[in-house]
Amino acid sequence: KQRLEGKRALVTAAGQGIGLASVLAMAEAGATVFATDVNEGALAEIDHPNIETFALNVLDDASVKAGIEKAQPDVLFNCAGYVHNGTILEATDDDWDFAFDLNAKAQFHTIRAALPGMLERGGGSIINMSSVASSVTAPPNRFIYTASKAAVVGITKSVAMDYVTKGIRCNCICPGTVDSPSLHERLKATGDYEAALAAFNARQPMGRIARAEEIAALVVYLASDESSYTTGQAHVIDGGWSI
Ligand code: NAD
Repeated sequence: KQRLEGKRALVTAAGQGIGLASVLAMAEAGATVFATDVNEGALAEIDHPNIETFALNVLDDASVKAGIEKAQPDVLFNCAGYVHNGTILEATDDDWDFAFDLNAKAQFHTIRAALPGMLERGGGSIINMSSVASSVTAPPNRFIYTASKAAVVGITKSVAMDYVTKGIRCNCICPGTVDSPSLHERLKATGDYEAALAAFNARQPMGRIARAEEIAALVVYLASDESSYTTGQAHVIDGGWSI
């Protein structure tokens, strides 16, 4: 039996980066995967017999409800998120609201939509994307991001606690810096791509940033019954950054 055989998994922000690596890894592990994103062009490039794609905007609760209704997931991977730069003195209310809507409130909405079906079917695994920039540690110039990703840890623990006797597990993932399309945008935005990349690599004790596939391996584990005894935890996967 394959590791995720018989499981239906819905992933948000699956068009690129960690979300894309995760839908491919879960499909390879035998799951029926629903890869969703707002970027339909990116979804159109996904080609795997176990993967169905459709547009889902996590900021739109009607879109969330329709997507959950269609997928009926046993596994929900909330991957959508955005990184704002800057200190508290550079933060705007608009950026704060956007970050909390996308990084935190969207998870409230997807979990609220998915839980009743999971409870009816007798179980489920919810995996939320947090970051090592959260309650774990604070990198410089990531005020809004760190605050919003710490909220994800709270969402995770609260859901895990309330449904721990009902077959529902809820964990979050806290990666260090991971190679992804948006990371390259952030590096370019600094004005000195090479220096920024070198600085990111230097703060990783392993001397390199992560590959998205390394994070996807943890997603597969948390999605599978192999992780049946872990819930409510923030799983740090950061190449030793927060040691
Ligand atoms: P990315 O930032 O390159 O891609 C993000 C994806 O999200 C895009 O495909 C985009 O279309 C999609 N998206 C944006 N708004 C959306 C919406 N409203 N609804 C649905 N999809 C939407 O990918 P990444 O860097 O792998 O990041 C994925 C997640 O991992 C994020 O939550 C991020 O905060 C988190 N994370 C990333 C890193 C990193 O270094 N890359 C580290 C820790 C945590």
